[in-house]
Amino acid sequence: MPMSPDFEKRLNEKLPKIIDRFGTPFHILDEKGIREACSRLSIAFEGFDGYRNFFAVKACPRFEVLKIVQSMGMGFDCSSPAELKMVREIGARPEGIIYTSNNTPLSEYIEALSYGGCILNLDDDSFIKKVTAIKEISGMPERLCLRYNPGDIRGGENEIIGEPTEQKYGTPHERIVAAYRLAKEAGVKYFWLHTMIASNTLKVDYIAETARMLLNVLVLLKKELGIEIEAINIGGGMGIPYHPNVDVFDIIGLTNKISQIMVDFSGKLGYFPRIVSEMGRYVTGPSGVLVTRCINKMHKYKTFIGVDASMSANPRPAIYSTPKEECYHHISVVDRASSETEVVNVVGSLCENNDQFAKERVLPVINEGDPLIIQDTGAHALAMGGPYNARLLPQELLSCVDGSVRLIKEAETYEDYVKTQRRAMNNPQILTF
Ligand SMILES: *Cc1c(COP(=O)(O)O)cnc(C)c1O
Repeated sequence: MPMSPDFEKRLNEKLPKIIDRFGTPFHILDEKGIREACSRLSIAFEGFDGYRNFFAVKACPRFEVLKIVQSMGMGFDCSSPAELKMVREIGARPEGIIYTSNNTPLSEYIEALSYGGCILNLDDDSFIKKVTAIKEISGMPERLCLRYNPGDIRGGENEIIGEPTEQKYGTPHERIVAAYRLAKEAGVKYFWLHTMIASNTLKVDYIAETARMLLNVLVLLKKELGIEIEAINIGGGMGIPYHPNVDVFDIIGLTNKISQIMVDFSGKLGYFPRIVSEMGRYVTGPSGVLVTRCINKMHKYKTFIGVDASMSANPRPAIYSTPKEECYHHISVVDRASSETEVVNVVGSLCENNDQFAKERVLPVINEGDPLIIQDTGAHALAMGGPYNARLLPQELLSCVDGSVRLIKEAETYEDYVKTQRRAMNNPQILTF
């Protein structure tokens, strides 16, 4: 089930007025839906002392969204200096920020550990020495997280992220004990352990087994080094159903399984670590949609519905060509009196043939001028966009719980698009030979 029937109903009622005021295309996020997803997580993890989700900022880096998830008690998972700056700008506290490194330049650690610091999550054991050696920071922070890659201990779950042995992330199993030993020697007092080996999965068992895998590493670390890990970070990757025939991720099923697994381990471990997660897609994915309008209906070898948004506003269908489910975004047409349907391709205006939101899709008959709703764009969709072909990014709106609809990001303008070029031209920096 893609966007919730509740969001769909509220949006459809308001759509004519919203289009009147703001025009198309626009991306709209639903505050109520985002809050409900946060609550579902809190309820599911109620029995886990110290549980917290650190919202993956990259899923939807918008101040108004970050403020909503923050008000629901979430922290943030950041992976770039700009993401760090955004969450600090809205007052995120050091204990509420994880900085997940990933081929990270040293300058970023300085940024991450300034302003009171944050929980550093190091991708590779080689970074421990590198961070310790940075002059501008006074040694390793007291609390450190390391990212683990199980290698061929686990099979891959899906195509987005691939087999663990093919992934660029994490310290290999063979070196994980040595890595914690090194961190301990570097002065770290509180240890976390992180992994993320699945993306957009709906398989509860896979994530539960990932928790078991981390607990096995905890047993190893206790045995080898005598350290007790403060928290296991099960990452993000909990999926959403893009297709109407697919069920939602069973979050209660997951926490039931994890609590059973925790009980199994309590004897072996002698303590219960905190559990934290970094879900992004699960929190905002279904609560965002792209509203666009048919501007050209064309009959070629196929029937094309040309809309006023392009894949620059949602590259997912173009990026994830396999498996097929990954590139599917449900599309609805508002207020169809007739039940007549036809098979169409829904396309944007880029000079790029993969600029197609849907291929050979059965949809109600669409005419020029009709609005279409491209669903589940609240995470890793617009956030992945960019102005290729100088197709500028659309405006973004928030449907608020008080019933109002607010502009939260203007449409990019031509001036926005050329300003970095203009600055360089107006302020020449030339190296002559
Ligand atoms: C992308 C990412 C996430 C969030 O993934 P979702 O699929 O949005 O849940 C969490 N943690 C890390 C390290 C990531 O790279």
